[in-house]
Amino acid sequence: MATFPIRIGTPDGLLFEGEVERVKCRGITGDLAILAGHTNYCTALGMGEAYIVLPDGTRRTAACIGGMLSVMDGSCHLLATTWEWAEDIDAERAQRAKERAEQKIAQGNLDDKELRIAEAKLGRALVRLSVKG
Ligand code: ATP
Repeated sequence: MATFPIRIGTPDGLLFEGEVERVKCRGITGDLAILAGHTNYCTALGMGEAYIVLPDGTRRTAACIGGMLSVMDGSCHLLATTWEWAEDIDAERAQRAKERAEQKIAQGNLDDKELRIAEAKLGRALVRLSVKG
C-alpha cells in the first residue's frame, strides 16, 4: 500500500517521524483518516483514540488530546497538545483520574469553570482507558 511521510510531535518534542500507510485521529468534527495522496488539508484535533499504520502493517495506537493536523504537498504534520503512545499510558493513574473527576462532578456544587475542568479531566481519562483497552 502507498505510504506518505508524517511527523508527530507535541510542544515537548518530536515523537515520530517516518512513512505510514494511514493515520487516524479525532478531528473537531469527527474521526478522520489520512491516506497517501490526500489533498492539502488542515484541521484542529479533538480528544480521542488515534493510530498510525506502518508500512509493515503494524498499528501503533495513542491517546491524542487536542492539537492540529495538516497535509501539505503529500506530507502530514500532526502537532498534538498531548500524544501518549498506548504503551506509555499508566492505566491505574487514568483510572484514579477518572474516579476523582466523577466524584467531583457528582458533588454537584462546582461552578462552571470547575465543572469544565472536571469534565475535561474525565474525558482525558476515558480516552486513556479506551486506548489501553
Ligand atoms: P492526572 O490527574 O492523572 O494528572 P490529567 O488528565 O489531569 O491526569 P494531564 O494534565 O492531561 O493529566 O497530563 C499531564 C502530564 O501527565 C502529561 O505529560 C500527560 O502526558 C501525562 N499523563 C497524564 N495522565 C497520564 C497517564 N494515565 N499515563 C501516562 N501519562 C499521563
